[in-house]
Amino acid sequence: MSSEILVLGAGMVGVSTALALRQRGHHVTLVDRKAPGLETSYGNAGLIQREAVMPYAFPRDLRTLAGVALGRGNDVHYQLPAMPALAPRLLRYWANSAPAAYAPLAQAYGQLIAHCLSEHAGWVEKAGAQDLVKRQGWVRGFLEPAGFDEACGQALQIAREHALGCEVLDSSALGRLMPALRRPLAGGIHWTDPWAVSDPGELVARYARLLQGMGGEVVRAEVQSLQPLGAGWQVQTHDSVLQAAQVVLAFGPWADGATRALGYRLPLFVKRGYHRHYAMDKPLPMPLLVTEPGFMLAPMARGLRITTGAEFAAQDAPPSPVQLAQAERMARGLLDLGEGVEAQPWLGARPCTVDMNPVIGAAPRHPGLWFNFGHGHQGFTLGPASGRLLAELISGEAPYLDPRPYSPQRF
Ligand SMILES: Cc1cc2nc3c(=O)[nH]c(=O)nc-3n(C[C@H](O)[C@H](O)[C@H](O)COP(=O)(O)OP(=O)(O)OC[C@H]3O[C@@H](n4cnc5c(N)ncnc54)[C@H](O)[C@@H]3O)c2cc1C
Repeated sequence: MSSEILVLGAGMVGVSTALALRQRGHHVTLVDRKAPGLETSYGNAGLIQREAVMPYAFPRDLRTLAGVALGRGNDVHYQLPAMPALAPRLLRYWANSAPAAYAPLAQAYGQLIAHCLSEHAGWVEKAGAQDLVKRQGWVRGFLEPAGFDEACGQALQIAREHALGCEVLDSSALGRLMPALRRPLAGGIHWTDPWAVSDPGELVARYARLLQGMGGEVVRAEVQSLQPLGAGWQVQTHDSVLQAAQVVLAFGPWADGATRALGYRLPLFVKRGYHRHYAMDKPLPMPLLVTEPGFMLAPMARGLRITTGAEFAAQDAPPSPVQLAQAERMARGLLDLGEGVEAQPWLGARPCTVDMNPVIGAAPRHPGLWFNFGHGHQGFTLGPASGRLLAELISGEAPYLDPRPYSPQRF
């Protein structure tokens, strides 16, 4: 039976959920304080990561932990004042990264990731967005031989177990693939299945236009509160009141505040990240992750986008783009980079959970309220796969995947 549904949040997750609901005949209104795709779903590295079957675990070996604590690497940075408040959730994240706990969590994550390309494919075609998508994968590059052999062994094993395309590139093969590199790297691991999007925010915007073309509505409004009203829901925005039978909350890194206001205490936290574009005459053919120190070089419509690893800090703390500054310095040693395109780096936040899996399903104590957030490092990848799952649950269809690992009830 079709229903009036408000989808709150127009990032990749919200827009994809709205599309899947509209496809099933529901009357959908998508609400965001900004135009679709201008927050986290704009600022990422643009990868649709079919290879990301192992979610990003908390490091457990003492050497890596000591390196992070002493600020040696560049892939993780932390702001000390935020740590006391973050510690309980990071401890749970750490515990969930122990091998025995991690294995079933990774299996659950992998089953969702397995559908990322097929679920994006239909929407990319219907949205006429093929021009934004390159289907040649991405490369994890190694500056030094240390660690390369071990990483190749692990990658090839994951590739075998999950039927993924993976090629090991020696130094000269990588140099031929990426002639823009000014110095030889030790080698690279080429994941061949993933897609690279040249303007992630624009892909979300095209999906939103597709939604409008299918009869869905897109409303620009700041949501101030959300309350049950009779058998449905009432949403107070800065200038209006919206009502519907059901509501989907897809606020990404802002989900914690909205769910707390309803009395939930979900173990959510954020890993902040930065990017900046640089002019570049000789573009890279595909994204390149520079392992150790850990930053991504992603060719995009606006230039070469350097994205950083994780920063543990309060979501609204002032920026401290030390990782970006170091990444830029190193990138200038690897490539002929021109000027920065923006005056200030972009700062956003990956919406994370302590068990690395997203929160998809019915709100435990509020009939008609549904959650879809917490997609961490791969929300751009997982929007359509998790949007479909939630739309099936809302519509009372048999879900295409076992939804239990993502249920909000699990906390
Ligand atoms: C540096 C970096 C690199 C990344 N690289 C990748 C990658 O290559 N591949 C990948 O898959 N993922 C990547 N990610 C992660 C990915 O970007 C996120 O997981 C994903 O964008 C989350 O999408 P979302 O729709 O949940 O959140 P968002 O895109 O943030 O959308 C949430 C929306 O809610 C709206 N909102 C919030 N509060 C309110 C309110 N009160 N009223 C109205 N609207 C509101 C916001 O305006 C926003 O539009 C990266 C993240 C970072 C930071």
